[in-house]
Amino acid sequence: MNPYDYQLFVIGGGSGGVRAARIASSLGARVAIAESYRYGGTCVIRGCVPKKLLVYAAHFAEDFADANGFGWSVPPVEFSWPRLIAAKDKEISRLSARYEDNLVGSNVITLYGTARVVDAHTVEINGQRITTEHILIATGGTPFLPQIPGIEHAITSNEVFDLPDLPSRVLIVGGGYIAVEFAGILHGLGAQVTLCYRGDQVLRGFDEDIRAHLQAEMVKKGITVLLHQDVAQLERLPDGSLSVGFASSGDSSLAVDAVLYATGRIPNTQGLGLDDIGVAIDRSGGVKVDAYGKTNIDSIHAVGDVTHRIALTPVAIREGVALAKTLFGPTPIATDLTTVPSAVFSQPPVGTVGLTEEQALSQCSEIDVYTSIFKNMRHSLSGRDERTLMKLIVDSASQRVLGAHMVGSDAPEIIQGLAIAIHMGATKADFDETVALHPSAAEEFVTMRDKISKKRSNDLSSFSRKSSDKT
Ligand code: NDP
Repeated sequence: MNPYDYQLFVIGGGSGGVRAARIASSLGARVAIAESYRYGGTCVIRGCVPKKLLVYAAHFAEDFADANGFGWSVPPVEFSWPRLIAAKDKEISRLSARYEDNLVGSNVITLYGTARVVDAHTVEINGQRITTEHILIATGGTPFLPQIPGIEHAITSNEVFDLPDLPSRVLIVGGGYIAVEFAGILHGLGAQVTLCYRGDQVLRGFDEDIRAHLQAEMVKKGITVLLHQDVAQLERLPDGSLSVGFASSGDSSLAVDAVLYATGRIPNTQGLGLDDIGVAIDRSGGVKVDAYGKTNIDSIHAVGDVTHRIALTPVAIREGVALAKTLFGPTPIATDLTTVPSAVFSQPPVGTVGLTEEQALSQCSEIDVYTSIFKNMRHSLSGRDERTLMKLIVDSASQRVLGAHMVGSDAPEIIQGLAIAIHMGATKADFDETVALHPSAAEEFVTMRDKISKKRSNDLSSFSRKSSDKT
Protein backbone atom coordinates (compact mmCIF):
# COMPACT_ATOMS: atom_id res chain seq x y z
CA MET A 1 0.00 0.00 0.00
CA ASN A 2 1.43 3.39 -1.04
CA PRO A 3 1.89 5.42 2.20
CA TYR A 4 1.51 8.87 0.60
CA ASP A 5 -1.59 11.00 0.02
CA TYR A 6 -0.76 11.05 -3.68
CA GLN A 7 1.63 9.28 -6.03
CA LEU A 8 2.21 12.45 -8.05
CA PHE A 9 1.74 16.05 -6.98
CA VAL A 10 2.13 18.51 -9.86
CA ILE A 11 2.91 22.17 -9.17
CA GLY A 12 1.77 24.27 -12.13
CA GLY A 13 -1.29 23.89 -14.33
CA GLY A 14 0.27 24.77 -17.69
CA SER A 15 0.73 22.59 -20.75
CA GLY A 16 3.46 20.33 -19.33
CA GLY A 17 2.00 19.89 -15.85
CA VAL A 18 -1.54 19.24 -17.03
CA ARG A 19 -0.44 16.65 -19.57
CA ALA A 20 1.79 14.86 -17.06
CA ALA A 21 -1.06 14.81 -14.51
CA ARG A 22 -3.61 13.40 -16.96
CA ILE A 23 -1.30 10.72 -18.36
CA ALA A 24 -0.14 9.69 -14.87
CA SER A 25 -3.76 9.37 -13.76
CA SER A 26 -4.64 7.35 -16.86
CA LEU A 27 -1.82 4.98 -15.88
CA GLY A 28 -3.47 4.42 -12.52
CA ALA A 29 -1.63 6.91 -10.30
CA ARG A 30 -3.35 9.04 -7.63
CA VAL A 31 -2.62 12.57 -8.83
CA ALA A 32 -3.20 16.14 -7.60
CA ILE A 33 -2.26 19.37 -9.34
CA ALA A 34 -1.92 22.87 -7.90
CA GLU A 35 -2.30 26.12 -9.83
CA SER A 36 -1.90 29.58 -8.34
CA TYR A 37 -3.72 31.51 -11.09
CA ARG A 38 -5.67 29.92 -13.95
CA TYR A 39 -5.39 26.46 -15.53
CA GLY A 40 -3.79 26.58 -18.98
CA GLY A 41 -0.51 28.29 -18.10
CA THR A 42 1.45 30.73 -20.22
CA CYS A 43 0.44 29.21 -23.55
CA VAL A 44 -3.29 29.43 -23.00
CA ILE A 45 -3.60 32.46 -20.73
CA ARG A 46 -0.92 34.91 -21.89
CA GLY A 47 1.12 33.28 -24.62
CA CYS A 48 0.63 31.22 -27.77
CA VAL A 49 -3.17 31.21 -27.88
CA PRO A 50 -4.07 34.88 -27.23
CA LYS A 51 -1.03 35.90 -29.29
CA LYS A 52 -2.23 33.90 -32.31
CA LEU A 53 -5.71 35.42 -31.97
CA LEU A 54 -4.14 38.88 -32.05
CA VAL A 55 -2.03 37.88 -35.07
CA TYR A 56 -5.22 36.96 -36.94
CA ALA A 57 -6.75 40.29 -35.92
CA ALA A 58 -3.73 42.26 -37.11
CA HIS A 59 -3.64 40.52 -40.47
CA PHE A 60 -7.02 41.91 -41.48
CA ALA A 61 -5.39 45.31 -42.09
CA GLU A 62 -3.40 43.86 -45.01
CA ASP A 63 -6.31 41.71 -46.16
CA PHE A 64 -8.55 44.78 -46.47
CA ALA A 65 -5.82 46.67 -48.33
CA ASP A 66 -5.06 43.75 -50.67
CA ALA A 67 -8.73 43.16 -51.50
CA ASN A 68 -8.80 46.14 -53.84
CA GLY A 69 -6.53 44.39 -56.32
CA PHE A 70 -9.07 41.56 -56.52
CA GLY A 71 -11.99 43.81 -57.44
CA TRP A 72 -13.32 44.56 -53.97
CA SER A 73 -14.17 48.05 -52.81
CA VAL A 74 -13.74 47.99 -49.08
CA PRO A 75 -15.59 50.75 -47.21
CA PRO A 76 -13.68 52.60 -44.49
CA VAL A 77 -13.00 50.12 -41.70
CA GLU A 78 -12.67 50.64 -37.97
CA PHE A 79 -10.92 48.57 -35.38
CA SER A 80 -11.95 48.24 -31.74
CA TRP A 81 -9.22 47.00 -29.38
CA PRO A 82 -11.66 46.57 -26.44
CA ARG A 83 -13.91 44.39 -28.62
CA LEU A 84 -10.96 42.23 -29.70
CA ILE A 85 -9.71 41.88 -26.11
CA ALA A 86 -13.19 40.96 -24.86
CA ALA A 87 -13.53 38.27 -27.55
CA LYS A 88 -10.05 36.98 -26.75
CA ASP A 89 -10.84 36.89 -23.02
CA LYS A 90 -13.97 34.87 -23.64
CA GLU A 91 -12.06 32.29 -25.64
CA ILE A 92 -9.27 32.10 -23.07
CA SER A 93 -11.82 31.54 -20.28
CA ARG A 94 -13.43 28.76 -22.32
CA LEU A 95 -10.08 27.07 -22.89
CA SER A 96 -8.95 27.45 -19.28
CA ALA A 97 -12.21 25.90 -18.05
CA ARG A 98 -11.71 23.08 -20.53
CA TYR A 99 -8.23 22.40 -19.16
CA GLU A 100 -9.67 22.11 -15.65
CA ASP A 101 -12.62 20.00 -16.81
CA ASN A 102 -10.26 17.63 -18.58
CA LEU A 103 -8.23 17.24 -15.40
CA VAL A 104 -11.33 16.53 -13.35
CA GLY A 105 -12.56 14.14 -16.04
CA SER A 106 -9.22 12.33 -15.79
CA ASN A 107 -9.67 11.88 -12.01
CA VAL A 108 -6.97 14.41 -11.15
CA ILE A 109 -7.59 16.44 -7.98
CA THR A 110 -7.32 20.15 -8.88
CA LEU A 111 -6.27 22.67 -6.24
CA TYR A 112 -5.93 26.45 -6.33
CA GLY A 113 -3.13 28.07 -4.36
CA THR A 114 0.61 28.64 -4.26
CA ALA A 115 2.38 25.40 -3.46
CA ARG A 116 5.79 25.08 -1.83
CA VAL A 117 8.03 22.03 -1.60
CA VAL A 118 8.75 21.22 2.06
CA ASP A 119 10.82 18.09 1.60
CA ALA A 120 11.34 15.32 -0.94
CA HIS A 121 7.85 13.95 -0.32
CA THR A 122 5.85 16.86 1.11
CA VAL A 123 4.27 19.97 -0.37
CA GLU A 124 2.43 22.73 1.40
CA ILE A 125 -0.52 24.57 -0.11
CA ASN A 126 -2.99 26.94 1.56
CA GLY A 127 -1.48 26.05 4.94
CA GLN A 128 -2.03 22.32 4.47
CA ARG A 129 0.76 19.74 4.17
CA ILE A 130 0.29 16.95 1.65
CA THR A 131 2.52 13.92 1.20
CA THR A 132 3.35 12.52 -2.20
CA GLU A 133 5.58 9.86 -3.70
CA HIS A 134 6.69 12.15 -6.55
CA ILE A 135 6.64 15.93 -7.06
CA LEU A 136 6.61 17.53 -10.50
CA ILE A 137 7.72 21.15 -10.84
CA ALA A 138 5.99 22.59 -13.90
CA THR A 139 5.78 26.25 -12.95
CA GLY A 140 6.91 27.70 -16.29
CA GLY A 141 8.64 31.03 -16.69
CA THR A 142 8.11 34.72 -16.25
CA PRO A 143 9.31 37.76 -18.24
CA PHE A 144 12.80 39.01 -17.49
CA LEU A 145 13.22 42.77 -17.15
CA PRO A 146 16.67 44.40 -17.06
CA GLN A 147 16.94 46.82 -14.15
CA ILE A 148 17.19 50.27 -15.71
CA PRO A 149 15.82 53.52 -14.25
CA GLY A 150 12.08 53.77 -14.91
CA ILE A 151 11.64 50.05 -15.77
CA GLU A 152 8.47 50.07 -13.62
CA HIS A 153 6.80 52.02 -16.45
CA ALA A 154 7.38 49.19 -18.94
CA ILE A 155 4.92 46.42 -19.69
CA THR A 156 5.67 42.83 -20.66
CA SER A 157 3.81 40.14 -22.58
CA ASN A 158 1.89 39.53 -19.33
CA GLU A 159 0.22 42.95 -19.48
CA VAL A 160 0.02 43.65 -23.20
CA PHE A 161 -2.96 41.31 -23.65
CA ASP A 162 -5.04 43.29 -21.17
CA LEU A 163 -4.30 46.91 -22.03
CA PRO A 164 -7.50 48.99 -21.92
CA ASP A 165 -6.62 50.70 -25.23
CA LEU A 166 -4.27 50.17 -28.14
CA PRO A 167 -1.33 52.54 -27.55
CA SER A 168 -0.70 54.86 -30.51
CA ARG A 169 3.09 54.78 -30.27
CA VAL A 170 4.91 51.74 -28.93
CA LEU A 171 8.55 50.94 -28.33
CA ILE A 172 9.34 47.23 -28.22
CA VAL A 173 12.63 46.24 -26.61
CA GLY A 174 14.24 42.95 -27.70
CA GLY A 175 14.72 41.10 -30.96
CA GLY A 176 13.43 37.63 -30.12
CA TYR A 177 10.17 35.75 -30.66
CA ILE A 178 7.91 37.99 -28.58
CA ALA A 179 9.43 41.26 -29.81
CA VAL A 180 8.98 40.54 -33.52
CA GLU A 181 5.57 38.94 -33.02
CA PHE A 182 4.23 41.95 -31.14
CA ALA A 183 5.87 44.35 -33.57
CA GLY A 184 3.70 42.77 -36.29
CA ILE A 185 0.57 42.62 -34.15
CA LEU A 186 0.65 46.19 -32.85
CA HIS A 187 1.71 47.62 -36.21
CA GLY A 188 -1.03 45.70 -38.01
CA LEU A 189 -3.64 46.96 -35.56
CA GLY A 190 -2.61 50.54 -36.22
CA ALA A 191 0.10 51.50 -33.72
CA GLN A 192 3.29 53.24 -34.71
CA VAL A 193 5.93 50.68 -33.73
CA THR A 194 9.63 51.05 -33.06
CA LEU A 195 11.63 47.93 -32.23
CA CYS A 196 14.91 48.42 -30.39
CA TYR A 197 17.38 45.55 -30.48
CA ARG A 198 20.89 45.47 -29.03
CA GLY A 199 22.26 43.17 -31.77
CA ASP A 200 22.76 43.52 -35.51
CA GLN A 201 19.72 41.55 -36.71
CA VAL A 202 16.54 40.26 -35.05
CA LEU A 203 16.02 36.58 -34.14
CA ARG A 204 19.50 35.61 -33.05
CA GLY A 205 20.01 31.86 -33.42
CA PHE A 206 17.83 31.55 -36.52
CA ASP A 207 19.32 31.03 -39.99
CA GLU A 208 21.09 34.24 -41.03
CA ASP A 209 19.13 34.55 -44.29
CA ILE A 210 15.86 34.14 -42.41
CA ARG A 211 16.87 36.87 -39.96
CA ALA A 212 17.85 39.30 -42.71
CA HIS A 213 14.76 38.58 -44.80
CA LEU A 214 12.28 38.97 -41.96
CA GLN A 215 13.89 42.15 -40.75
CA ALA A 216 13.77 43.66 -44.24
CA GLU A 217 10.07 42.72 -44.62
CA MET A 218 9.26 44.25 -41.23
CA VAL A 219 10.93 47.50 -42.24
CA LYS A 220 9.10 47.46 -45.60
CA LYS A 221 5.80 47.27 -43.72
CA GLY A 222 6.65 50.42 -41.78
CA ILE A 223 8.10 49.14 -38.51
CA THR A 224 11.10 51.17 -37.38
CA VAL A 225 13.95 48.87 -36.37
CA LEU A 226 16.73 50.39 -34.25
CA LEU A 227 19.79 48.13 -34.17
CA HIS A 228 22.84 48.11 -31.89
CA GLN A 229 20.74 50.13 -29.51
CA ASP A 230 19.58 49.71 -25.95
CA VAL A 231 17.32 51.64 -23.63
CA ALA A 232 19.09 53.47 -20.80
CA GLN A 233 16.06 54.86 -19.00
CA LEU A 234 12.32 55.46 -19.08
CA GLU A 235 10.54 58.48 -17.70
CA ARG A 236 6.81 59.08 -17.29
CA LEU A 237 5.87 62.55 -18.60
CA PRO A 238 3.06 64.70 -17.17
CA ASP A 239 0.79 63.91 -20.14
CA GLY A 240 1.07 60.19 -19.38
CA SER A 241 3.37 59.35 -22.26
CA LEU A 242 6.85 57.90 -21.80
CA SER A 243 10.18 59.41 -22.71
CA VAL A 244 12.75 56.80 -23.70
CA GLY A 245 16.44 57.58 -23.32
CA PHE A 246 18.82 55.45 -25.36
CA ALA A 247 22.20 54.17 -24.26
CA SER A 248 24.21 55.31 -27.25
CA SER A 249 22.60 58.31 -28.89
CA GLY A 250 23.54 61.18 -26.65
CA ASP A 251 20.64 63.32 -25.58
CA SER A 252 18.14 62.05 -28.14
CA SER A 253 14.95 60.51 -26.77
CA LEU A 254 11.78 58.97 -28.12
CA ALA A 255 8.25 59.77 -26.92
CA VAL A 256 5.87 56.80 -26.88
CA ASP A 257 2.67 55.72 -25.16
CA ALA A 258 3.88 52.28 -24.12
CA VAL A 259 7.16 50.40 -23.82
CA LEU A 260 6.92 46.63 -24.18
CA TYR A 261 9.88 44.66 -22.89
CA ALA A 262 10.42 41.31 -24.60
CA THR A 263 13.88 40.58 -23.29
CA GLY A 264 13.54 36.90 -22.54
CA ARG A 265 11.91 34.80 -19.87
CA ILE A 266 13.30 33.29 -16.69
CA PRO A 267 12.22 30.12 -14.89
CA ASN A 268 9.57 30.49 -12.20
CA THR A 269 11.34 28.99 -9.18
CA GLN A 270 10.87 31.79 -6.65
CA GLY A 271 9.14 30.76 -3.44
CA LEU A 272 9.03 27.07 -4.33
CA GLY A 273 11.48 26.16 -1.57
CA LEU A 274 13.79 24.34 -3.97
CA ASP A 275 16.97 25.95 -2.60
CA ASP A 276 16.03 24.98 0.93
CA ILE A 277 15.86 21.30 0.10
CA GLY A 278 18.88 21.32 -2.24
CA VAL A 279 17.30 20.91 -5.70
CA ALA A 280 20.06 21.76 -8.20
CA ILE A 281 19.49 24.84 -10.33
CA ASP A 282 21.60 25.52 -13.44
CA ARG A 283 23.45 28.76 -14.24
CA SER A 284 20.49 30.19 -16.15
CA GLY A 285 18.16 29.62 -13.19
CA GLY A 286 16.50 26.52 -14.65
CA VAL A 287 15.76 23.42 -12.61
CA LYS A 288 18.45 20.92 -13.62
CA VAL A 289 17.04 17.60 -14.84
CA ASP A 290 18.31 14.45 -16.55
CA ALA A 291 16.98 13.06 -19.85
CA TYR A 292 13.94 11.68 -17.97
CA GLY A 293 13.04 14.93 -16.20
CA LYS A 294 14.45 13.89 -12.82
CA THR A 295 16.28 16.44 -10.63
CA ASN A 296 19.16 15.55 -8.32
CA ILE A 297 16.52 14.42 -5.81
CA ASP A 298 14.99 11.11 -6.93
CA SER A 299 11.37 12.00 -6.12
CA ILE A 300 11.42 15.53 -7.59
CA HIS A 301 11.05 16.13 -11.32
CA ALA A 302 10.60 19.11 -13.64
CA VAL A 303 9.26 19.69 -17.16
CA GLY A 304 8.74 22.66 -19.47
CA ASP A 305 9.96 26.25 -19.28
CA VAL A 306 11.06 25.96 -15.63
CA THR A 307 13.96 23.81 -16.88
CA HIS A 308 15.04 26.64 -19.23
CA ARG A 309 15.89 24.49 -22.21
CA ILE A 310 13.50 24.71 -25.20
CA ALA A 311 10.64 26.99 -24.11
CA LEU A 312 7.97 25.68 -26.45
CA THR A 313 4.55 24.26 -25.53
CA PRO A 314 4.81 21.03 -27.57
CA VAL A 315 8.17 20.34 -25.94
CA ALA A 316 6.70 20.78 -22.43
CA ILE A 317 3.84 18.46 -23.39
CA ARG A 318 6.27 15.82 -24.68
CA GLU A 319 8.32 16.09 -21.52
CA GLY A 320 5.15 15.76 -19.41
CA VAL A 321 4.04 12.63 -21.24
CA ALA A 322 7.51 11.06 -21.05
CA LEU A 323 7.76 11.79 -17.34
CA ALA A 324 4.36 10.30 -16.51
CA LYS A 325 5.16 7.16 -18.52
CA THR A 326 8.61 6.92 -16.93
CA LEU A 327 7.15 7.07 -13.42
CA PHE A 328 4.01 4.99 -13.91
CA GLY A 329 4.43 3.12 -17.20
CA PRO A 330 6.35 -0.07 -18.01
CA THR A 331 9.61 1.55 -19.23
CA PRO A 332 11.40 4.90 -18.78
CA ILE A 333 11.06 7.25 -21.73
CA ALA A 334 13.47 10.09 -22.56
CA THR A 335 12.03 12.95 -24.60
CA ASP A 336 13.31 13.00 -28.17
CA LEU A 337 14.08 16.64 -28.90
CA THR A 338 15.75 16.21 -32.27
CA THR A 339 14.24 18.19 -35.14
CA VAL A 340 11.92 20.36 -33.06
CA PRO A 341 10.10 22.66 -35.49
CA SER A 342 9.26 26.18 -34.40
CA ALA A 343 7.46 29.18 -35.77
CA VAL A 344 7.58 32.87 -35.15
CA PHE A 345 4.20 34.45 -35.78
CA SER A 346 5.71 37.62 -37.11
CA GLN A 347 4.32 39.28 -40.22
CA PRO A 348 5.25 37.57 -42.46
CA PRO A 349 5.67 34.49 -40.26
CA VAL A 350 8.74 32.29 -39.94
CA GLY A 351 8.76 28.50 -39.89
CA THR A 352 11.88 26.50 -39.24
CA VAL A 353 13.00 22.94 -38.55
CA GLY A 354 16.41 21.36 -38.26
CA LEU A 355 19.81 22.93 -38.69
CA THR A 356 20.52 26.45 -39.85
CA GLU A 357 23.16 26.91 -42.54
CA GLU A 358 25.62 28.02 -39.88
CA GLN A 359 24.93 24.99 -37.64
CA ALA A 360 25.12 22.58 -40.58
CA LEU A 361 28.48 24.00 -41.64
CA SER A 362 29.82 23.44 -38.17
CA GLN A 363 28.75 19.77 -38.29
CA CYS A 364 29.34 18.71 -41.93
CA SER A 365 32.40 19.12 -44.10
CA GLU A 366 30.24 20.18 -47.05
CA ILE A 367 26.62 21.21 -47.47
CA ASP A 368 24.33 22.07 -50.37
CA VAL A 369 22.19 25.14 -49.85
CA TYR A 370 19.02 25.62 -51.90
CA THR A 371 17.38 29.02 -51.65
CA SER A 372 14.41 30.55 -53.33
CA ILE A 373 13.01 34.06 -53.01
CA PHE A 374 9.80 34.83 -54.81
CA LYS A 375 6.64 36.89 -54.84
CA ASN A 376 3.55 34.91 -53.81
CA MET A 377 0.89 34.62 -56.50
CA ARG A 378 -1.51 36.58 -54.26
CA HIS A 379 0.70 39.64 -54.58
CA SER A 380 0.61 39.63 -58.38
CA LEU A 381 -2.84 41.22 -57.94
CA SER A 382 -2.61 42.71 -54.44
CA GLY A 383 0.33 44.81 -55.53
CA ARG A 384 2.01 44.24 -52.17
CA ASP A 385 5.79 44.19 -52.29
CA GLU A 386 6.31 41.15 -50.07
CA ARG A 387 8.69 38.30 -50.82
CA THR A 388 8.79 34.77 -49.52
CA LEU A 389 12.09 33.10 -48.68
CA MET A 390 12.55 29.33 -48.59
CA LYS A 391 15.74 27.51 -47.83
CA LEU A 392 16.83 23.88 -47.66
CA ILE A 393 20.08 22.76 -46.09
CA VAL A 394 21.40 19.40 -47.33
CA ASP A 395 24.41 17.36 -46.22
CA SER A 396 26.42 16.94 -49.46
CA ALA A 397 27.77 13.53 -48.51
CA SER A 398 24.57 11.76 -47.41
CA GLN A 399 22.14 14.04 -49.31
CA ARG A 400 20.04 14.09 -46.16
CA VAL A 401 17.97 17.26 -45.70
CA LEU A 402 19.19 18.78 -42.46
CA GLY A 403 17.06 21.89 -42.27
CA ALA A 404 14.13 23.71 -43.86
CA HIS A 405 13.46 27.37 -43.25
CA MET A 406 10.87 29.78 -44.54
CA VAL A 407 9.69 33.37 -44.13
CA GLY A 408 6.35 33.97 -45.78
CA SER A 409 2.61 33.37 -45.59
CA ASP A 410 1.68 30.04 -44.04
CA ALA A 411 5.30 29.21 -43.16
CA PRO A 412 4.31 27.55 -39.84
CA GLU A 413 1.69 25.38 -41.59
CA ILE A 414 4.12 24.35 -44.32
CA ILE A 415 7.07 23.64 -42.05
CA GLN A 416 5.06 21.31 -39.79
CA GLY A 417 4.65 18.90 -42.74
CA LEU A 418 8.29 19.16 -43.72
CA ALA A 419 9.28 18.42 -40.11
CA ILE A 420 7.91 14.89 -40.56
CA ALA A 421 10.07 14.30 -43.62
CA ILE A 422 13.16 15.75 -41.99
CA HIS A 423 12.57 13.84 -38.75
CA MET A 424 12.33 10.63 -40.81
CA GLY A 425 15.65 11.39 -42.50
CA ALA A 426 14.42 12.34 -45.98
CA THR A 427 17.03 13.03 -48.64
CA LYS A 428 16.99 15.76 -51.24
CA ALA A 429 16.08 13.07 -53.80
CA ASP A 430 12.97 12.24 -51.70
CA PHE A 431 11.97 15.91 -51.87
CA ASP A 432 12.64 16.00 -55.65
CA GLU A 433 10.62 12.84 -56.27
CA THR A 434 7.61 14.27 -54.43
CA VAL A 435 5.05 15.64 -56.89
CA ALA A 436 4.47 19.36 -56.52
CA LEU A 437 1.10 20.70 -55.38
CA HIS A 438 0.28 23.48 -57.82
CA PRO A 439 -0.30 26.38 -57.51
CA SER A 440 1.05 26.80 -54.01
CA ALA A 441 4.02 28.41 -52.36
CA ALA A 442 4.81 25.10 -50.65
CA GLU A 443 5.59 23.41 -53.98
CA GLU A 444 8.80 25.42 -54.12
CA PHE A 445 10.20 23.08 -51.46
CA VAL A 446 10.06 20.16 -53.91
CA THR A 447 11.14 22.07 -57.00
CA MET A 448 14.33 23.76 -55.82
CA ARG A 449 17.14 22.61 -58.12
CA ASP A 450 19.83 25.30 -58.01
CA LYS A 451 22.28 24.65 -55.24
CA ILE A 452 25.29 26.35 -53.82
CA SER A 453 27.77 23.96 -52.28
CA LYS A 454 29.70 25.20 -49.31
CA LYS A 455 32.68 23.71 -47.54
CA ARG A 456 33.17 24.18 -43.85
CA SER A 457 35.81 26.86 -44.34
CA ASN A 458 33.73 28.81 -46.89
CA ASP A 459 33.09 32.45 -46.37
CA LEU A 460 29.35 32.68 -45.59
CA SER A 461 29.16 36.23 -46.90
CA SER A 462 29.82 35.04 -50.47
CA PHE A 463 26.46 33.29 -50.48
CA SER A 464 24.22 34.19 -53.45
CA ARG A 465 20.57 33.41 -54.09
CA LYS A 466 18.22 32.47 -56.85
CA SER A 467 15.46 35.03 -57.22
CA SER A 468 12.22 34.63 -59.12
CA ASP A 469 8.58 35.64 -59.17
CA LYS A 470 6.01 32.96 -58.31
CA THR A 471 3.27 34.19 -60.60
P1 NDP B 1 13.97 35.50 -26.66
O1 NDP B 1 15.01 34.79 -25.90
O2 NDP B 1 13.42 34.89 -27.90
O3 NDP B 1 14.50 36.95 -27.03
C1 NDP B 1 14.96 37.84 -26.04
C2 NDP B 1 15.46 39.09 -26.73
O4 NDP B 1 15.75 40.08 -25.76
C3 NDP B 1 16.73 38.84 -27.53
O5 NDP B 1 16.67 39.61 -28.69
C4 NDP B 1 17.81 39.34 -26.59
O6 NDP B 1 18.94 39.82 -27.24
C5 NDP B 1 17.10 40.49 -25.91
N1 NDP B 1 17.62 40.79 -24.58
C6 NDP B 1 17.85 39.92 -23.58
N2 NDP B 1 18.31 40.56 -22.49
C7 NDP B 1 18.36 41.86 -22.81
C8 NDP B 1 18.76 43.03 -22.09
N3 NDP B 1 19.20 42.97 -20.84
N4 NDP B 1 18.69 44.22 -22.73
C9 NDP B 1 18.25 44.27 -24.02
N5 NDP B 1 17.86 43.21 -24.74
C10 NDP B 1 17.92 42.01 -24.14
O7 NDP B 1 12.85 35.81 -25.58
P2 NDP B 1 11.32 36.22 -25.72
O8 NDP B 1 11.06 37.00 -24.49
O9 NDP B 1 11.01 36.83 -27.03
O10 NDP B 1 10.58 34.83 -25.66
C11 NDP B 1 10.91 33.90 -24.63
C12 NDP B 1 10.80 32.48 -25.14
O11 NDP B 1 9.45 32.13 -25.26
C13 NDP B 1 11.38 32.26 -26.53
O12 NDP B 1 12.74 32.03 -26.52
C14 NDP B 1 10.60 31.07 -27.01
O13 NDP B 1 11.23 29.90 -26.55
C15 NDP B 1 9.26 31.25 -26.33
N6 NDP B 1 8.29 31.81 -27.28
C16 NDP B 1 7.92 31.07 -28.36
C17 NDP B 1 7.03 31.56 -29.28
C18 NDP B 1 6.66 30.75 -30.47
O14 NDP B 1 6.90 29.55 -30.46
N7 NDP B 1 6.11 31.35 -31.51
C19 NDP B 1 6.42 32.88 -29.12
C20 NDP B 1 6.88 33.58 -27.96
C21 NDP B 1 7.77 33.06 -27.09
P3 NDP B 1 20.12 38.84 -27.75
O15 NDP B 1 19.63 38.23 -29.01
O16 NDP B 1 21.27 39.77 -27.96
O17 NDP B 1 20.34 37.87 -26.63
